[in-house]
Amino acid sequence: MKTRTQTNYVVIHHSGSTNSTVESITHWHVTHEAGNKWPTCGYHYIIDKVGNTTETLPINAKGIHCKGSNHNSVGVCLVGNFDVEPVSGGQLAALKLLLSDLKEEYPGVVIVPHSYLGQTACPGYNLLQLMGELK
Ligand SMILES: [Zn+2]
Repeated sequence: MKTRTQTNYVVIHHSGSTNSTVESITHWHVTHEAGNKWPTCGYHYIIDKVGNTTETLPINAKGIHCKGSNHNSVGVCLVGNFDVEPVSGGQLAALKLLLSDLKEEYPGVVIVPHSYLGQTACPGYNLLQLMGELK
């Protein structure tokens, strides 16, 4: 596992699947995203539907979640497909709490949706609508 030396962004993702879990996301990352070479999840944090936050990768590790910006960003994934379902109140509250911690840890860090840095619909329409609240 490589160490990340720069932290310019916190990148917000959704899992894209309505019924995924920390375990299923991690399994998918280990077996597909990193071609079996990654020992754990590519995101640093996963927030489940009721708002439980799990640290899935050490905060100083270089993640695998945003092509071209893994070296300078922290990856946060919310469970759900926000093109078809809303972000739950518990999830949004947990995200805001996590982001306030990260902003304290990394002053000046910029909170961006995955779609800001890559060609993707991630993190879904309904979560994109909330980005203004997360700056
Ligand atoms: Zn994403």
